[in-house]
Amino acid sequence: MKHTKIVATVGPATEAKEMLHALVEAGVNVFRLNFSHNEHAWHREVINRIREVSAELDRPVGILADLQGPRIRMGGTEEVAVALGQTVRVSDIAHAEFLPASHMATVLLDVSGITDALELGHAILIEDGTIRLRVSEKGEGWVIGITEDAGLIKPRKGVNLPDSKIDLPILSPKDKKDLKFVLEEGVDFVGLSFVGSAADIENARETMKHFLPASAALPDIVSKIERKEALKNLDEILSATDVIMVARGDLGIEMPESEVVILQKEIIRRSLSALRPVIVATQMMKSMTDSPTPTRAEVSDVTNAVVDHADAVMLSEETAMGKFPIEVISTMREIIEKTEESPFDDIYHSLDLNTKTEYATLIRSAYELAKSFEARSILLLSMSGFTARLASHFRPEMGMLVATNNRRMWNKCGLLWGVTPYLFEGEKNLDCLMDKMIAAAKERGDLASGDKTVVFLGRIPGEHAVQRLVGIREIR
Ligand code: PGA
Ligand code: MN
Repeated sequence: MKHTKIVATVGPATEAKEMLHALVEAGVNVFRLNFSHNEHAWHREVINRIREVSAELDRPVGILADLQGPRIRMGGTEEVAVALGQTVRVSDIAHAEFLPASHMATVLLDVSGITDALELGHAILIEDGTIRLRVSEKGEGWVIGITEDAGLIKPRKGVNLPDSKIDLPILSPKDKKDLKFVLEEGVDFVGLSFVGSAADIENARETMKHFLPASAALPDIVSKIERKEALKNLDEILSATDVIMVARGDLGIEMPESEVVILQKEIIRRSLSALRPVIVATQMMKSMTDSPTPTRAEVSDVTNAVVDHADAVMLSEETAMGKFPIEVISTMREIIEKTEESPFDDIYHSLDLNTKTEYATLIRSAYELAKSFEARSILLLSMSGFTARLASHFRPEMGMLVATNNRRMWNKCGLLWGVTPYLFEGEKNLDCLMDKMIAAAKERGDLASGDKTVVFLGRIPGEHAVQRLVGIREIR
């Protein structure tokens, strides 16, 4: 059983129900819907199919709605060819008609007033940084940039301004519509692109509350770390967010490519110590978009993310529009399993983990007990997900079976490293929950007669500060 989870993006290659079914069987734990593409009707259809597949297989399948966020794009309608070292005037769609006549090539950004944020020496990176401009002069509503690459500047291509202080609202009008829609659909996770600060996350959370009835549970917020600004504010982002994504695509544009792997390790380490689940995203198996086998470098990348102790690894175009979606999941799963079987990912003690509270110490002793007795599994109850997150962050190699009575929590726990969640909707009696889980786990082969387990009945709601470490239980 693999402990590191897989997030897979749905697209034209994988939208069919049978395909979604096969992908879950192959090892997908969470599906990502990319709201940079497709209409609501398409997303609704796919969400319904995923829920059906989850019910048919009786397995938690989380849904992550990834909002486009404040992505800046090229405006205009014409392609502009540029040579190396050429001067280009850069303005925005709102200022276009007021620009003085000029012979200089002019291109437009699609965010009005955005050139105000550009200062001399700042970089303008177009289409994943394939065309770079450096600002050399600044005017009212325009700048002049000198190209550092030759190429074609095309309309609609994404733009990164890594040096600039950008104060765009974290939710664009489109994001707000998408957010309202995904809340109605009851997704489990919402991805926030281009997060810069804790305030962005609070803002999105307040917007969610505004769209939902007061008593409704919120989806978890997945903060995508893909801007310099986010790295600067990582500590406050970690305390404000529910989940972290190392969004290496944009991160590798904003930061030197050579630093991305180090940043990944740093972000994972700090996420773990803040008890935040963390997903590693982008280009993990990119060549398998067109090829049935991965490159050695890709195998190494997945292994490395597992050794880094990420909760989950993510696929984008590989499953959204690739030719080998099933193969990419099975290959990824095999790499994960092989890495987890090896000793190279067993380094929990070298991490600065959260053993500071009494409760954490108790869970850690459950893990120590499980190790000493060579337990098959640690059995937990988790209603809010907190106990599951705390247990999981110690990365106990025997894995955890977690019973919950809440469907949303069941899906959310599916993302957590080493957690196999069991759902008994509405069951309030904690002893019953545990017994039902053991029976179900035997049926499913997660437990067998004679197995030793460590049972941890965390906090008992209603009673104050009751914490019980129940110890060893042999499965009969
Ligand atoms: P994206 O985010 O694919 O939505 O841009 C992931 C990344 O930037 O890595
Ligand atoms: Mn991105």
